[in-house]
Amino acid sequence: MNLRILIIPVLLLFFGCTQTNIKPEKQLEPIPNTDVYLKVLGIAQDGGMPHINNSQEYNDVANGDRKKELVVSLGLIDTEQKKKYLFDATPDMPEQLDMLHKELITNTIIDGVFLTHAHIGHYTGLMHFGREAMGADAIPVYAMPKMNTFLSTNGPWSQLVGIENIKIVPMLADSSITLSRKLKITPFLVPHRDEYSETVGYRIEGPEKTALFIPDINKWSKWTTSIIEEVKKVDYAFLDATFFSEGEIPRPMSEVPHPFIDETVALFKEEDAAIKSKVIFIHFNHSNPALDKQDVKRLALEKEGYRFARQGEIFGL
Ligand SMILES: [Zn+2]
Ligand SMILES: [Zn+2]
Repeated sequence: MNLRILIIPVLLLFFGCTQTNIKPEKQLEPIPNTDVYLKVLGIAQDGGMPHINNSQEYNDVANGDRKKELVVSLGLIDTEQKKKYLFDATPDMPEQLDMLHKELITNTIIDGVFLTHAHIGHYTGLMHFGREAMGADAIPVYAMPKMNTFLSTNGPWSQLVGIENIKIVPMLADSSITLSRKLKITPFLVPHRDEYSETVGYRIEGPEKTALFIPDINKWSKWTTSIIEEVKKVDYAFLDATFFSEGEIPRPMSEVPHPFIDETVALFKEEDAAIKSKVIFIHFNHSNPALDKQDVKRLALEKEGYRFARQGEIFGL
């Protein structure tokens, strides 16, 4: 119970309610339970919300009927080591880095950027490190082999590499990167539309808790690993929730395969609420009805234990 919630009515009673303009308490964000934590910096699919060519969504946001949603990204904050890291460089990266800056002020804008793959929502934010914007100096960018080649050999990214705005730190699948005594990152390959690079998810291991981050993946059945077993091994699993169900967008959905939320839910049907509550849906397409917090299907799934990522949420590691 928040002490201030108790104190305000008590004070009102004491002073005979002479004051009528007391505003309700702003909801406080949960405080992370460790000195290492994740912060959700965006939840939308690559195209964001509002989405290109959708006047209705722009109007809804302007009228305050819907909330603008930034593209999927997680911030990782290590207050002990005074370091902060970013998972994916989205088109919204400048705003997301500022959110991290407000979390922890250090000498560097970011101590490392971990990339999942070369689709527009996940790496194009790197452009802001270049000469036209920040002109950054050797920002460590963790990349898999094909991602590394893609960035190093194609403009405009190759210029960032060439003049060392960014410094690529090569990663290998299933090979862990130790960021500190308390923090370990492991990329693993997942099936996806790999036109320009391979695609990885990440296991993020903190001193007490572990998170899984899989923003993009083809159907779960295309992965040789069992997602149920992987979820059981961790505390939080941020999973691809691009679409809720078949027929959601007016084009063949087989062109853009993702596990539908209803397919993921069917897969976890026999699991108990404790397992379901580890699943935190993220990477919502603008068409996904679950973006609406009052959506009946979303509310029903929340009752079962499932969670839907919200920008600004904090998860202690
Ligand atoms: Zn994506
Ligand atoms: Zn993708």
